[in-house]
Amino acid sequence: AERKRRVAAVIEDVERSLATPTALLRSIADAMVTEMERGLRGDIHAQLKMLISYVDNLPTGDEHGLFYALDLGGTNFRVLRVQLGGREKRVVKQQYEEVSIPPHLMVGTSMELFDFIAAALAKFVDTEGEDFHLPEGRQRELGFTFSFPVNQTSISSGTLIKWTKGFSINGAVGEDVVSELSRAMERQGLDMKVTALVNDTVGTLAGGRYNDNDVVAAVILGTGTNAAYVEHANAIPKWTGLLPKSGNMVINTEWGSFKSDKLPLSEYDRVMDFESLNPGEQIYEKMISGMYLGEIVRRILLKLAHYASLFGDIVPPKLEQPFVLRTPDMSAMHHDSSHDLKILGSKLKDIVGIADTSLEVRYITRHICDLVAERGARLAAAGIYSILKKIGRDKIPTGESKMPRTVVALDGGLYEHYKKFSSCVEATLTDLLGDEASSSVVAKLANDGSGIGAALLAASHSQYA
Ligand code: ADP
Ligand code: MG
Repeated sequence: AERKRRVAAVIEDVERSLATPTALLRSIADAMVTEMERGLRGDIHAQLKMLISYVDNLPTGDEHGLFYALDLGGTNFRVLRVQLGGREKRVVKQQYEEVSIPPHLMVGTSMELFDFIAAALAKFVDTEGEDFHLPEGRQRELGFTFSFPVNQTSISSGTLIKWTKGFSINGAVGEDVVSELSRAMERQGLDMKVTALVNDTVGTLAGGRYNDNDVVAAVILGTGTNAAYVEHANAIPKWTGLLPKSGNMVINTEWGSFKSDKLPLSEYDRVMDFESLNPGEQIYEKMISGMYLGEIVRRILLKLAHYASLFGDIVPPKLEQPFVLRTPDMSAMHHDSSHDLKILGSKLKDIVGIADTSLEVRYITRHICDLVAERGARLAAAGIYSILKKIGRDKIPTGESKMPRTVVALDGGLYEHYKKFSSCVEATLTDLLGDEASSSVVAKLANDGSGIGAALLAASHSQYA
């Protein structure tokens, strides 16, 4: 009875500290809009960096030729080549390869990391077949998707601000990532020019726009989280260059670093942050994204094990190990709809090492997954809502009879594979927008948009264009 009472007490406390009532989400969205405005003014204390991407034109569909892209994001990187056929033929042919990054390279030296990437790219280029055509005398060109915060100095150069998502490489901060990649390609004897350096959000926006003209924003929900959107150039006080002809500029919000008293931060979040590679940073990201959701669940289960003997008299040693419970496993447990939660039971056996969990323990575990996923998804929806507010697509514009169709391109393994998470993002966004506006807003999966988007931007910024 005492055990049951303790279990109930912890669960109640978790429910309370992770709660995200709609009114709270609205005030979080308002706080994000305020931070976006500060970032656009160049306020050095702004939490959202609102980085200028130097992309003032998104793909039109006219792009053509052979282009490469390299997407360095979190756990994997992808290399891709695409033959673009212009307005009529569009994507004629496309090939890609995915390579996982050996963990030691994520915390090693930047030369080792870039050499590894350039070697994989060189190998991929060697397999280029007859279907791809590079005109005589031309150099191959590459769009480089680099999903970490970068201070762009042009469309094809920029310096790393900081690492996130488990990367921690000495000496890379402040360096131009394009020159580092270019030097590594030279060391491999690979003759290729980087003509566009883009964040994955910007790439996804470009890829999304290529397929659908109404795409105005892109959101990544993968290992980390971030968003980009199309801003009016005259709404960016810190932009001191010439006003682009299009009147627009794509902004990479770097919203993962958002932090506010309004965020429902629990004791589990606090300790996870404290023990992370980047304490005090990326607080919003740590509540939402795939790198962290499973870890938050693990910490709650561990508390239940210690304080309420959830798994019996001893605390399973495996449960003490940070990051043993990965978000894909959490997702599998959460989606188990069998009457005896068999899948969940076998996951607990594999991960925690407890073979015969009771049905009650399984239900509790699923409930914890539900609470953590729901908070993350609802907070992500509040972020999307804040961008729509920022650009005035959260309601019918004054003087007009209806909302213009508004598409948000979404990508990332978390959104793509975690169905209960993505459904909750969509339902919450609908709720925040209300019936009228939500009928004009579409959230659309832009699968691997960031790779193709980078290739498209490499094409529109080609040295031969
Ligand atoms: P990245 O963000 O590293 O560029 P992805 O967009 O492919 O790469 O996202 C990978 C992340 O997505 C993983 O770290 C994981 O957290 C999450 N993920 C992948 N598969 C699933 C799944 N089945 N359920 C939940 N999350 C998943
Ligand atoms: Mg990615």
